[in-house]
Amino acid sequence: MAKKISHLGIAVKDLAASEALFAILLGTDEVHHEVVEDQGVQIASFKIGDSIIELTAPISPDSPIATFLEKRGEGIHHIALEVDDVAAELERLKTKGIRLIDEAPRDGAHNMSIAFLHPKSTGGVLVELCEIKK
Ligand code: ZN
Repeated sequence: MAKKISHLGIAVKDLAASEALFAILLGTDEVHHEVVEDQGVQIASFKIGDSIIELTAPISPDSPIATFLEKRGEGIHHIALEVDDVAAELERLKTKGIRLIDEAPRDGAHNMSIAFLHPKSTGGVLVELCEIKK
């Protein structure tokens, strides 16, 4: 079961420019930076109450974010739902006929285990499941 919206992922081309914009929009300069090598991305995230707005820019041309930007341009990329157990949720959703991008949890930003579901089976929305690592 989804517990809350963990974060919204926004695909951006120029991380510094978008970070400056969102600092104005959100009224805060408190930003956290992270590089997730195996996804080929760099992230700037703003904590808003219980949720996070995550600006994501590619650091390599073969990053999925680079492909997304090419096809669709900047904008909302994914919605991330926090769950207790990503592996168990993947199993449950699979039995319900939801297509998975990740068959097993992997390391994501914010010290979480994550997995993506295929937008073709989730109404066109890229959904990420995430679990805070114990
Ligand atoms: Zn995410």
